[in-house]
Amino acid sequence: MNEYQKLPQIGKITQILPYPNKKLLSQIASKVIQNERENIANGATASSEDEIIKKITQEYEKSQKKPKKLINATGVILHTNLGRAPLSEKIYELAKENICGYSDLEFDTQTGRRGDRYAYVKSLFQSLSGCDDALVVNNNAAAVFLVLNTLAKNFKSIVSRGELVEIGGSFRVPEVMKEAGTELVEVGTTNRTNLQDYKDAITEDTRLILKVHRSNFDIVGFSQSVDIKSIANLAKEHGIISYYDLGSGYASRLPEHLEKDEPSVQELLLSGVNLLSFSGDKLFGSVQCGIILGDKALIDKLRKNQLLRMLRVDKITLNLLALSLEAYLEKDYKALPALEFLHRKDKELIAMANKINEGLLQKLKLRRTSTYAGGGSLPNKAIKTIALALQGDAERLQDKFRTLGVIGRIENGEFLLDLKAVSHKEIDELIMAINLIQKEEK
Ligand SMILES: *Cc1c(COP(=O)(O)O)cnc(C)c1O
Repeated sequence: MNEYQKLPQIGKITQILPYPNKKLLSQIASKVIQNERENIANGATASSEDEIIKKITQEYEKSQKKPKKLINATGVILHTNLGRAPLSEKIYELAKENICGYSDLEFDTQTGRRGDRYAYVKSLFQSLSGCDDALVVNNNAAAVFLVLNTLAKNFKSIVSRGELVEIGGSFRVPEVMKEAGTELVEVGTTNRTNLQDYKDAITEDTRLILKVHRSNFDIVGFSQSVDIKSIANLAKEHGIISYYDLGSGYASRLPEHLEKDEPSVQELLLSGVNLLSFSGDKLFGSVQCGIILGDKALIDKLRKNQLLRMLRVDKITLNLLALSLEAYLEKDYKALPALEFLHRKDKELIAMANKINEGLLQKLKLRRTSTYAGGGSLPNKAIKTIALALQGDAERLQDKFRTLGVIGRIENGEFLLDLKAVSHKEIDELIMAINLIQKEEK
């Protein structure tokens, strides 16, 4: 019997495995077996039937994995892997009618002509931030790309070496610039860049100075960077554009100790910067999108770029964003859960912890510790929080809670359920999960 003959028949596998979707199962089985054949052709011996069946089972289960709700007990409020900013049910409910039916997304009911889908969010951003003009695209990466491609293609853009960052999810500033068609001119060093460095680099071919927020790291010690106001002034003197990729803009207030060195969007616009952009689903606390604020003459150019057609946002995004902006204007921060979590005080967290303990067969100890905003915002800025500590092997507990849809974290060898980003309506579910696992652990 040669190696190929040892491979099982697809028909046999579809009979053995109890999955209902036989067509999908046989597709997966034939892919796995084809892969085996290729390995044998390359000199490998055939895997055992058990191994092959295990592989097919794994692939099948993976293909059936649906998106699932989780409880975020990591303490990290803007967790990119967990979907960044949560939305409030209030906003979701209010948006429902416009999202599910037809609407005047791009229709002017007064004239019967085509309308502008961005007009309402633009006017809300003007009220909230005092900006001259505003535009929204799919995410902040798209915003950076659109700005550079529209305003600096075939010309040079200056960036400090301390800001040539990688954000994660393969967003690297030098690569994005290259794809957008602008030539990167690096100035300064990794730890220090001064205004003269920018000045010396400006030539006839320079169109833009880009400042990038160090969203997910910090340079401490012997370091220097140039503030946005000085960059804006320098750009103005030379008739070129200043643009700040802010990453995670915020538009209300941050808890006091976090505000140091982190101006709000409103304050940054006062610096005279021509354009700035930030994500809708980081500290801003709304839906995924990229928000561009600044000079009307420049944003008009962005509107005329064909690329905007590819980066445009849909009715779902625009309705949810508009409602978030209305909540900002009404100071209804309860409708913006990320902001609510960020501002949560110890008192509220302790009351939540006590409520959970009341429902438990075996009470948990409280830990006063710290967490981070996360999601590429405010690195190195610890936020006080309260967590519940579980007794037992931390790794095993982490695995068990994860299979129940509760994501915690390990700190000093102890498994913690941090309450900072847990909503009140999740408390009962959390109590059930803890009771279940405590029973098993006994
Ligand atoms: C997060 C971030 C981005 C990317 O924003 P997305 O909305 O995730 O596309 C770009 N630049 C900076 C500085 C960031 O922090």
